[in-house]
Amino acid sequence: MSNLLKSYSSYMEACTDCGVCTEVCPFYKITGNEFYGGRAKLKAAYSLYKGEELSEEEIKTLLLCTRCDQCNQMCPAQIPISEIVAAARGRLKELGKVPGKYLVIAKNIMEASSPMAAPPQDRLTCLPEEFKPPRKAKYLYVPGCIASFRARNAVKAAAELFMKLGLDFTVLGEKESCCGLFLADIGMIEEAAKLAEANTKLFEETGAEYVITECPSCYDMFKRVYPKLYREPNYKVLHVVELLHQLLKEGMLHFKDGGGEEIIVYKDPCPLVRRHGITEQPREILRAIPGVKLVEYKENRGDAVCCGAPAGVKPLFPDLAAKLAEYLVNEAVELKASCIAVACTFCLYHIVGSLKERLPIPVKTISQIVLEHLG
Ligand code: SF4
Ligand code: SF4
Repeated sequence: MSNLLKSYSSYMEACTDCGVCTEVCPFYKITGNEFYGGRAKLKAAYSLYKGEELSEEEIKTLLLCTRCDQCNQMCPAQIPISEIVAAARGRLKELGKVPGKYLVIAKNIMEASSPMAAPPQDRLTCLPEEFKPPRKAKYLYVPGCIASFRARNAVKAAAELFMKLGLDFTVLGEKESCCGLFLADIGMIEEAAKLAEANTKLFEETGAEYVITECPSCYDMFKRVYPKLYREPNYKVLHVVELLHQLLKEGMLHFKDGGGEEIIVYKDPCPLVRRHGITEQPREILRAIPGVKLVEYKENRGDAVCCGAPAGVKPLFPDLAAKLAEYLVNEAVELKASCIAVACTFCLYHIVGSLKERLPIPVKTISQIVLEHLG
């Protein structure tokens, strides 16, 4: 029996069955099926802990969780449901009950440095051709796997923006490796710890003062999880919106005059809002752009609805993941938004890729929007 799942036994026993975690779960919201909500996942994990045989539906509900933390935040008994889900997945792996796709993704991360086993040199080709990464710089920009291989325009825009702003930055290029989030999501903690050590040392070797992430999950791993798995680093971790907000406050962002009203709705990424409380910086950047009118999802900031993709949900349950992307796009259209702003390249890749030609309005990162409006 995995010690990790066992270590949560008192939490699992503290559940009062109130059901709050079901109502807030994005998969309950889009299906109305209580069995996809937080409580059912906790019950399945508890059965697993007690050594009971799980039904296919119980295994499914444990796999159908993006670890968005909406349930953890609302649980009156403060039960860390998403952590328990990860531990239960670790136990399912011990029992040989996780899908083959999971094992392929984990193997790719450990042996080929990215979940999709993409060619490492492709991490460089999404950067502007004229950018020649210096050996040393104040900022180390780490785009992350999804951005480098699946949302390449977002990386290019961020790098172009940094160049335009005269930022002293570099990248790791083909030496960059996955942050290991997926390993943590499925309870492979020892393997995630190995990546925490390797990446921390790699970042430190560059001598950079700041590591800038494009992806909020890389940010969460580097800033909150790595120190627990390995040790505190000697660099600071910033998400790209924190960096841009800092530059805004220093008067470094000069925008063109607005050419008419542009209505933008901002989609909060789960790790930034629920694990780090970053809600206002991206909104302040958008509001500072002349002509931009910011509108809000009815569930925003800490209540933001997950895009439905992370933690293995998109590869295993693409239809349910796509329903959440559609849910967010439909509400943006109801709000009459002409653009959805994101601070997460996984949200970008998932929403755009799920709706394809049915996508009625563009989805852009804050960096892309800032670059478009920079004077
Ligand atoms: S972490 Fe998110 S997806 Fe998982 S059970 Fe909780 S609310 Fe549902
Ligand atoms: S919100 Fe907490 S106490 Fe209520 S059912 Fe969910 S896990 Fe149990």
